[in-house]
Amino acid sequence: MTLFRKNLIDGEWLGEAGSRNINPSNTGDVVGEYASAGPEQAKQAIAAAKAAFPAWSRSAPLARHAVLKKASDEIMARKDEIGRNLAREEGKTLAEGIGETIRAAQLFDFFAGETLRLSGELVPSVRPGVGVEITREAVGVVGIITPWNFPIAIPAWKIAPALAYGNTIVFKPAELVPESAWTIVDILHRAGLPKGVLNLVMGKGSVVGQAMLDSPDVNAITFTGSVGTGKRVAAASVEHMRKFQLEMGGKNPLVVLDDADLAVAVDCAINGAYFSTGQRCTASSRLVVTEGIHDRFVAALKERMEKLVVGDALDARTQIGPVVDATQLKQDEDYIAIGRNEGAELAFGGERLDGATPGFYLTPALFTGATNAMRISREEIFGPVANVIRVKDYDEALAVANDTPFGLTSGICTSSLKHATHFKRNSEAGMVMVNLPTAGVDFHVPFGGRKGSSYGPREQGRYATEFYTTVKTAYTFAG
Ligand code: ADP
Repeated sequence: MTLFRKNLIDGEWLGEAGSRNINPSNTGDVVGEYASAGPEQAKQAIAAAKAAFPAWSRSAPLARHAVLKKASDEIMARKDEIGRNLAREEGKTLAEGIGETIRAAQLFDFFAGETLRLSGELVPSVRPGVGVEITREAVGVVGIITPWNFPIAIPAWKIAPALAYGNTIVFKPAELVPESAWTIVDILHRAGLPKGVLNLVMGKGSVVGQAMLDSPDVNAITFTGSVGTGKRVAAASVEHMRKFQLEMGGKNPLVVLDDADLAVAVDCAINGAYFSTGQRCTASSRLVVTEGIHDRFVAALKERMEKLVVGDALDARTQIGPVVDATQLKQDEDYIAIGRNEGAELAFGGERLDGATPGFYLTPALFTGATNAMRISREEIFGPVANVIRVKDYDEALAVANDTPFGLTSGICTSSLKHATHFKRNSEAGMVMVNLPTAGVDFHVPFGGRKGSSYGPREQGRYATEFYTTVKTAYTFAG
């Protein structure tokens, strides 16, 4: 019997079967069927969140702590099962799926602690006898719209701080990965959330997402996804004068200098460009390499790529899982054709693979001889495709690294303290890595970018208070 999951609206599981969730490693494997909300259900969810807000925002911090801690503990205890389902519906490897699940547990644990740490300031007024208190309060109903590439970590890093600081939620996950979303909501619901505090509305972005954008009762929206949808979120949010936060694309450079440790540089490139099938907004899609190390780097990288095992996400030997679906696979292949037409040389991979089961398998692709002006160097592909751009020296490498409409992460491989320090100070990215992959970040420190990659306050860590709370300045004259 096929699994059937419903939406959670005002504490009730509701809805009829709508969409099927297909395993990208084996398109004959249906993970389950999922309710697909219409605009009416989205409105009900928003109304429920609005009604639940006054009590939840004034609840004792320990009550919120208890729910978040319990959720963290259950996610950690079930990490293998949840991580396996994640890998099954998204296509990242089992190890990546379990690792991401652990991260979700850590995020809930971190924000459980934060419920007890929210503090303010007491400042003397310029007027005698007057005191000024600066405090933070919950914002209200938060709309959470998430993408498919981190099916549990991204929802966790938005839901955990939203709840910790007393907000109520309408959560719309990506259509491709409803099982992870449903699981996290089920766990939080059973952990003791009052009805209406967290509502799950699975469904189409153009229907449910749009209903959230159009509602005057959604007080803040946090969005991770494409640039196009991010712009719609921004425009609609300005219209309603609501807070919004956007995390969008990246075209992240990994600079490799002549003095780099070759093994470290190749590790960083393999991990950053190809792990998670390159489907990370922090992926290293531009490898900017100085001429003294260029040929050795490309040769060593190709040697490692030959050994990468592409296959079924659930097979423990697999290092690179399938692409998430047919649409994304076509986009990857279209960009590979565009790169060739632009004159870059496809030095490795980029071919469809037949697995033991029907799935969206693509070998990791490496372009050499790319320039930074090519479309493959300017547009986010969101697949296992990276370009090597040859440059003369560090100065040119930095200029190329910064010449992009995006600014999420950047990396440099070098043994020079001077160049590492200069790069950290002058890279136009929100996150900079030295001798580390551009992807893979800690859960307790700020995450976010610049330019076309992000808008609004940072996510994660204590910086999350910027978005999920609003500041109040209260004056008291006590005589
Ligand atoms: P991707 O290309 O990664 O799927 P999208 O921006 O299309 O990126 O999707 C990210 C999230 O935004 C998904 O949950 C999707 O359903 C949602 N979404 C898509 N279109 C809209 C829209 N018009 N309004 C609100 N949300 C949307």
